[in-house]
Amino acid sequence: MPTQMLPNNGHGEFMILNGALVPFADARIHCLAPAVTYAANVFEGLRAYWNERQEQLYVFRLDDHLRRLDYSMKVMRFQSAYEPATLRAAVLRLLQANNVREGVHMRVHAYVDVDGMMTATSPIGMFVSMVARPISPQAKQGIHAAVSSWTRISDNSTSPRVKSTANYVNGRLASLQAKIDGYDNAILLTGGGQVAEGPGACLFIVREGSLVTPDVTQDILESITRATIIQGAEEWLNLRVTERRVARTELYGADEMFFCGTGQEIVPVVSVDRHPVGTGNVGPLTATLQQRYFALVRGETEEHKDWLTPVYE
Ligand code: PMP
Repeated sequence: MPTQMLPNNGHGEFMILNGALVPFADARIHCLAPAVTYAANVFEGLRAYWNERQEQLYVFRLDDHLRRLDYSMKVMRFQSAYEPATLRAAVLRLLQANNVREGVHMRVHAYVDVDGMMTATSPIGMFVSMVARPISPQAKQGIHAAVSSWTRISDNSTSPRVKSTANYVNGRLASLQAKIDGYDNAILLTGGGQVAEGPGACLFIVREGSLVTPDVTQDILESITRATIIQGAEEWLNLRVTERRVARTELYGADEMFFCGTGQEIVPVVSVDRHPVGTGNVGPLTATLQQRYFALVRGETEEHKDWLTPVYE
């Protein structure tokens, strides 16, 4: 339970803009920044979890997120971009300044600032924001998904591996269409018709006891949660995840299915295109993975302490 009500609708008193702590209301950029006009803007979504017993806040896999952001900036050819160490310090500083003692979702953005052309590669601006975010109710009850008629963007257009805000136009179209059609979320297929991922999460299925997920060449984001689950399944359950192409109709024959991502964590998918997945309830393997994942990220176990960055001394 939250121990405090964070101001600004859960965003806290402060944000970090271009390295400086600023009041939430003052975190603004110019409307002609290429970040706005040409979507020259990459980011990471992270979570920090509050451990009440230890009175500690843990950022989950902070360095892995910052490595991926660095890669996104490289592919976008951002010049003189912020170093991961600087961004790391900014994340911790913001959480401390807002005195966070509950679960939050964070954004770390890097973008082309000021006023420039489509090809501008500097100056680079950055911001860090946060918002209170408890575990979603969908984690318990699961969701109903539809295979989208929108195709997933591809590596040779706006690469899904680069976490740019532009990619979320594709996710937005698919998500809104799914909701208008009466579903909770969408599953996108690649241009070749194979399963890719959701608008903001990767997808796993269970078939005859084995875990399967589209491989990293199937137009997905190289998700940190996906990597955590692949490693966790092996360490916790002695299960090897198969990374391969997944056909649409395999979804209809799956025994269990779930989305995974930093924001969504592990969300069971209980039907696809109105075909029940397995029994139509949250599957046992999914429930076990959820339990292990939540214990890990909250620092309730001794495993992978290197993935948890404590915020308070
Ligand atoms: N795919 C997409 C399109 C996403 O937006 C996200 C959320 N970042 C994910 C997958 C999951 O990635 P991660 O586990 O690194 O948060």
